[in-house]
Amino acid sequence: MDRQRKRNLGNKYLVLIAIVFGIIACKKEEEKPILEEELAIVEEPEEILEFGFNLNDYVVKRDTIRKGDSFGVILERNKIGYPKIFHIAEKAKDTFDIRKLQLGKPYTLLCSKDSLETPRCFIYQPNLEEYVVINFQDSIHAYTSRKPIKYVEKTITGIITSSISETLDEQGVSPVLTNKLADEIYAWTIDFRRLQKGDRFKVIYTDKFIDDTIYTGIHNVKAAYFEHKDEPFYAFRYQTDTVKGIIDYFNEEAKNLRRAFLKSPIQFGRISSRYNLKRRIAYYGYALRPHKGTDFAAPVGTPIRATANGTVTESTRKGGNGKYVKIRHNATYETQYLHMSRQNVKKGQFVKQGDVIGYVGMTGNTGGPHVCYRFWVNGKQVDPFRQKLPEAKPISDSLKTKYLEYIKPIKNQLDNIYFSPEDLKQQPEQTIIRQANS
Ligand SMILES: [Zn+2]
Repeated sequence: MDRQRKRNLGNKYLVLIAIVFGIIACKKEEEKPILEEELAIVEEPEEILEFGFNLNDYVVKRDTIRKGDSFGVILERNKIGYPKIFHIAEKAKDTFDIRKLQLGKPYTLLCSKDSLETPRCFIYQPNLEEYVVINFQDSIHAYTSRKPIKYVEKTITGIITSSISETLDEQGVSPVLTNKLADEIYAWTIDFRRLQKGDRFKVIYTDKFIDDTIYTGIHNVKAAYFEHKDEPFYAFRYQTDTVKGIIDYFNEEAKNLRRAFLKSPIQFGRISSRYNLKRRIAYYGYALRPHKGTDFAAPVGTPIRATANGTVTESTRKGGNGKYVKIRHNATYETQYLHMSRQNVKKGQFVKQGDVIGYVGMTGNTGGPHVCYRFWVNGKQVDPFRQKLPEAKPISDSLKTKYLEYIKPIKNQLDNIYFSPEDLKQQPEQTIIRQANS
């Protein structure tokens, strides 16, 4: 029922946008009516610019590097003789080593527009952004260039009905955004496995496009607002160290959203059994069997993450624990992860928060695949969910004032994004913030 209602709401958004566009389109037509005959006369080959060339000036041949292809083979196939090929390769070698052509990468030949279709230019694309031009139409020269990159800022809002991924998915938003919110921004403050119906969020993020058209994914999240159990959680992206390029998310009071410990060692698992000193188990005749860990159920093979930076003190297999890893984080804290199918770290190894230290399994004493997460404070096992865990590196006093100034307009922007469709009209649809060509 609820999801149906959401869909309907979604449709209303669409209709609204369509109406707005409709109005713009109508206006244009009124101003300048275009007759069909007129269109036929005006028509003229449009400039198609790519790689800095007007493609209309050439016969364009596109292909990908195939097995057995080399620069020489490709040019020879296109009627260029070996002495010239050798000459081109020699001249181009300071910019691009033609032996570096990789199987499956696209290339383009710009050929003369006569019956001979002689190649004039070879353009190779080692990746989506870069391209190498070997131009031999007059003198031979080669250079590497980049396609223009465009960042488009977008906003999105959502109200949780089931899960964050489903809510974003319904709006056609990439799961990357879910991961950024769950793992990068709110991993320490909000438990995304326990979101509540009615929790809601607003996000300002940027999409990255190459050449205006190729969508390469979400670039970053500039700011977010998450209302969990009626409590607001602001997050603003801020670079605290321009030299090292350290970026963190802070709240409206300049508090770091990161904590020394992650809330969960697995990404989207489910807590199947909590820390409970008074647990009794039927299998053991209801004898007292305290559970000093928190069990997260997840399929075998699910990556298990270190919840904080530290040094591996044990990576072994022992009795009921099965295969496990234990990490010492500092003089006070240790964590332990049991029943792995296999470990991914060795004793003595330093691990960073979020590193995969092993995979969920069923080794040792366990009825199903899960990781038993144990949290040690001063050598005693405690319930991590009842601990007040330390904050990660706070912002320096000197930066704090600067930060608060920086977030003012962004917070304002966030606060002016509304959840209800009636307020949609007031929402700026999207704005281009940056256009880079380097
Ligand atoms: Zn357990």
